Amino acid sequence: MNDSQAVPRVKLLIDGEFVESTTEQWRDIVNPATQQVLARVPFATADEIEAAVSSAKRAFQTWRKTPIGARSRIFLKYQQLIREHMKELAAILTAEQGKTLADAEGDVFRGLEVVEHAAGIGNLQLGELANNVASGVDTYTLLQPIGVCAGITPFNFPAMIPLWMFPMAIATGNTFVLKPSEQDPMVTMRLAELALEAGIPAGVLNVVHGGADVVNAICDHPHIKAVSFVGSTHVGTHVYNRASAAGKRVQCMMGAKNHAIVLPDAHKEQTLNNLAGAAFGAAGQRCMALSVVVLVGQAQEWIGDLVAKARTLKVNAGVEAGTDVGPLVSCAALDRVSSLIERGQQEGATLELDGRNPSVAGYESGNFIGPTIFSGVTTEMSIYREEIFGPVLCVMHAATLDDAIALINANSNGNGTAIFTRSGAAARHFQEEIDVGQVGINVPIPVPVPMFSFTGSRGSKLGDLGPYGKQVVQFYTQTKTVTQRWFDENDVGTSVNTTITL
Ligand code: NAD
Repeated sequence: MNDSQAVPRVKLLIDGEFVESTTEQWRDIVNPATQQVLARVPFATADEIEAAVSSAKRAFQTWRKTPIGARSRIFLKYQQLIREHMKELAAILTAEQGKTLADAEGDVFRGLEVVEHAAGIGNLQLGELANNVASGVDTYTLLQPIGVCAGITPFNFPAMIPLWMFPMAIATGNTFVLKPSEQDPMVTMRLAELALEAGIPAGVLNVVHGGADVVNAICDHPHIKAVSFVGSTHVGTHVYNRASAAGKRVQCMMGAKNHAIVLPDAHKEQTLNNLAGAAFGAAGQRCMALSVVVLVGQAQEWIGDLVAKARTLKVNAGVEAGTDVGPLVSCAALDRVSSLIERGQQEGATLELDGRNPSVAGYESGNFIGPTIFSGVTTEMSIYREEIFGPVLCVMHAATLDDAIALINANSNGNGTAIFTRSGAAARHFQEEIDVGQVGINVPIPVPVPMFSFTGSRGSKLGDLGPYGKQVVQFYTQTKTVTQRWFDENDVGTSVNTTITL
C-alpha cells in the first residue's frame, strides 16, 4: 500500500454525501499501461456498509411513491449528462482499466442506452387487469418495487455494468447499494456524481467499496432484498448461494467460453475481421469475447489468414491513437494469462502466434500481451477448459456443423456464440440446436440492446431473470394481485354466507 497523501482517495457515497472512509485497509488503483498509482480505494468498514443500507432503507419510503414521471425526468437528465461527459468518462476509464479510448466510449455508451431505457420505464412497469372475473369483480396486478437492492460489478466494464443495474432498479422505485470492482472504481464514481447531479435524491443511490468482506456483508444483510452480480463463475456461485440462503432474490451473470463456428461458405474477409475484433479487442477481457473458433471442413485452411489478420493489430496504450489491443488490467492478470499460454504449449497445442512480451515503446512497464493463437486445441487442455480472459484464441476443427454444435453444447458455459456462414438454412439449424443464451449470426458479439435482456445461460448464469430490459423489471418488482369489488348504494348486498366463486 502506498501511504502518500498526494494520491487521491476514492470516496464512499452514503446518504447523498461523498465521504472518506475511516478504514485502515486501502488498495492502489494502478494505470495498467504505466503502473502509475492513480488513486486509492477503501475497503469499507461494517459501520459504513450499515450506514449505506440504512440510508437506502429510509430513502425507499419516499422514493417508492415518487411518481413515474418524476423518476423518468431524472433519467432523461442523467442520459444528457452522460452524453456531455462522454470524453471525460472514457478518459478516466482508459486510465484505470487500460482499454482503448474508443472501447471506453463504447463501454459508457452501452450503459447510456440502459439509462435511456430506464427513462421510459413507465411503459414496462405495467400491471394487467381482468374485468369481471366474477360478477362485479375485477382482478389486477401491481408491479411494486421491492426495497433496497444491491449490485456487485466486475472490472472489465466499469461503466456499462453498473449502468445495467442501478438505473433500472431505481427507475422501478427501488433504492440501491452498489459495490463496484475495487480494481477500477473511478469511472463508476464519476457516474455516481452525475446521477446525483441529475437529481437522484439522497439515499436512493449509495456506493461502498471493498472486496470479499463487503460482498459477503451485502449477501447477508437482512434489509437488502435483491442482489445483482456480474463477475467470475467462482465468485458468482458463492454470491448466489450465500445471498439466496439469506432469502434474497439473486441474479448472477458469470464467466464464459464463447465459441464461433466458421463454415467454409462464410464471407472470408468479414469473418476474419470479426474474429480478430471479438477475440483480441479489449485485450480479450470481455465476457462475450470469442475465445474459441471452430473451423468446419475446408474452413480449416483459413488459419494462416487468421494469424496474418491478428498480426496487423497494434498493441499499445489505450490512450494512443490507432491502438487495437491495450494492456491487461493488472500484473496479476498478465502473469495468469502468460502462464496459461505456457500450459497450452506444455499440453501439446501448437502456438501459431505468440503475443508474449511485445515491445511497446514508451510503455515498457505496461501489462501488455499481444494477440496469441493456438491451433490443435483439444477439450482436455487447460487453455480450453479455463476462461483465459486475455487476447488468446483457441482454434479447433470439426468435420461438420453438427459436430461443431455438439462440441459447444458439451461445454459447461452458455454465455455467447456465433456462426459465420452465407447459408440461411445452416444458420437456422444452428439457432435451433445450439444451447447457448446469446446467439450471433454473422454477428460476433451478440449482446442484446436494452429493450431485450442479457440472456447468458447454463454455467454462465444463475437465477432466472437477466439484467436490464424487460426481464429486470420482473426482478426488481414484486407482483401484487388485487381482486376488487365495489358496492353502490342500490346494491342489496350478499348474505354473510355467500362466497364468491371465481
Ligand atoms: P470477479 O468475480 O473477480 O469480481 C467480481 C466482483 O466480485 C468484484 O466486485 C469483486 O470485488 C468481487 N469479489 C472478488 N472476489 C470475491 C470473493 N472471493 N468473494 C466475494 N466477492 C468477491 O470478476 P472480475 O475479474 O472482476 O471480472 C471478470 C469476470 O467477470 C470474468 O469471468 C467475466 O467473464 C465475468 N463477466 C461476466 C459478464 C456476464 O454478463 N456474464 C460480464 C462481464 C464480466
